[in-house]
Amino acid sequence: MYSVTNPATGELVEEIPNATAEQVEDAIGRVRRAYPGWRDVPVTDRAKIVLRAGELFAERSAELTAVMTLEMGKRVSEGRGEIGVVADIFDYYGTHGPDLLADEPLTIKGGHAVIAKEPIGALLGVMPWNFPCYQVARFVAPNLVLGNTILLKHASICPRSAAAIEDILREAGVPEDVYVNTFASSKQVPGILADPRIQGVSLTGSEQAGVSVAAEAGRNLKRCVLELGGSDPLIVLDTADLDETVRATATARMRNCGQSCNAPKRMIVLDDIYEEYVEKLTARVADHYVPGDPADPATTLPPLASISAADEVAGQVRKAVAQGATLRTGGERVHPGAYLEATVLTDVTPDMDAYYEEIFGPVVLVFRARTEDDAVAIANDSPFGLGASVFGTDPGRMRRVAGRIESGMVYLNRAGGSQADLPFGGIKRSGMGRELGAAGIEEFMNKKSIRL
Ligand code: NAP
Repeated sequence: MYSVTNPATGELVEEIPNATAEQVEDAIGRVRRAYPGWRDVPVTDRAKIVLRAGELFAERSAELTAVMTLEMGKRVSEGRGEIGVVADIFDYYGTHGPDLLADEPLTIKGGHAVIAKEPIGALLGVMPWNFPCYQVARFVAPNLVLGNTILLKHASICPRSAAAIEDILREAGVPEDVYVNTFASSKQVPGILADPRIQGVSLTGSEQAGVSVAAEAGRNLKRCVLELGGSDPLIVLDTADLDETVRATATARMRNCGQSCNAPKRMIVLDDIYEEYVEKLTARVADHYVPGDPADPATTLPPLASISAADEVAGQVRKAVAQGATLRTGGERVHPGAYLEATVLTDVTPDMDAYYEEIFGPVVLVFRARTEDDAVAIANDSPFGLGASVFGTDPGRMRRVAGRIESGMVYLNRAGGSQADLPFGGIKRSGMGRELGAAGIEEFMNKKSIRL
C-alpha cells in the first residue's frame, strides 16, 4: 500500500493501493514500446524537453516543497534547496547532454572508428523518500537525454511526489509512455527486473534493498547502479576557527533531519582539539536544534520521515548507550509525531552495533583520533564507502588524507551536499556506479564501436 502520513502529527492523509500485476505488465509494455521512437528523436530535441522540465521544477518549487513537507517532513528551506538542485540537474543535462553524447573519434591500427554514445532501452528506477525529487532527477535527467525510457517505482510513503514529478515531465513534453510512474510494491520489483523488456535498474536506497536488487539484476544479466547507505567520516585535523568548524559540521549532519546518505555521520577529531570540539558541538546541537513544525520556516529540527523511522533511530541510540556509549545530549523521542531529539554520542567502540551501522537520523557520533594515521584508520573501519570530509588548515595535508580514505567522494573543508556537475557515488557497501556529471550519463549507455 502507498500512503501519505504526516510525520509531524502521525495523521494518515491518503492511501493508494499497490499496482495490480496487470497494471505493472501494462507499464512495462508502454515504456518498452516507447523506446525506439524516443531513441530516434534528435538528441537536441530531447535536451530541449529536459531543459523545459528544469524550468517547470523551478516554477513549481513551492508546491513540490509542500508535498515533501507533508509526506516526509522536509523543512521549507530545505525543500526549496532540493528543488533548486533538481532544476540545476535538468539544466545541466539539457545544456551539456548533446556534447556529452557526441561521437568519439578513434584512430586505430589500420584506420578509423568512432564510439557512438547510444541508449540501451527501457530502465527501471527504484527511489527512496529522503530526497523525493532530487533522487529521481539524478537518474531521469541524463537518461531522458540519452534516449532511454523509464519506469519509476518511488518509495511507498511519497506517492504524491511521484505523481507530481510525472506530471511535470509530461508538461515539459516527455511523451506519455517514455516516463511512467508505477505504484508497484517492492515485492513486484524482481518480476519487473526479470522481464526481458527492461534493460537495467537504478536503485537508491538501503543496503538491504541493494542486495536484493543486485542479486536479481545479476541473475538476469541487467545493468545496475546502486546508490546505497553511508556512514561518512569527517576528519578534523586542526582548525583556525573551532566555532565555525563546529557549526559547519553540525549543520551538515543535521541536514534533512540527519537523513542524508552522504551526511557526515562520524566526526573523527584529533586528540588536541577533541574535548573542546565535543563540548562546543554538544552545546550547538542541544541549543540550536529544537523540534518543530516542518512547515514553519523558523523550525530547526523537523520530524523524521515516519514514526517507524524515529522509533528505529531512537532504538539504535538506546542500544549504543546500553552497550557503553556516552550520551552527551538528546536521545529521546518527542511525541506526537516522528520527532527525535538531536543527539550526540561519544565513546562508541567497535564492539558496539552503532560503530558499524548507518544511523539515519539526527545523531552525531564523535571519535577521538590520536594521530592522522589513526584518524584514517577509524575512517576506513566501516563497511560503507560513500563520501568523506577532511577539515583542516593545510591544503596539502588535507589532500594527502583525502587520498587515503576509502570512499567514492571526499569534500575538503565542506561536508555532504551534491551538485549537478560533480559525479556522485560510493564504493564498498555504499554501492556501485556514478550519478551526476559526465559520468552519470554513461551508466546506461551503449558505447558502440563503429569501424569506419
Ligand atoms: P529503502 O527501504 O531501501 O527504500 C528505497 C526504495 O527501495 C523504495 O522505493 C522501496 O520501496 C524500495 N525497496 C525496499 N526494499 C526493496 C527490495 N527488497 N527490493 C526492491 N525494492 C525495495 O530505503 P529508504 O529507507 O527509503 O532510504 C534510506 C536509505 O537510502 C539509507 O540507507 C540511505 O543512506 C540510502 N540513500 C542512499 C543514497 C545514495 O545516493 N547513496 C541517497 C539517498 C538515500 P518501498 O518504499 O515500497 O518499501
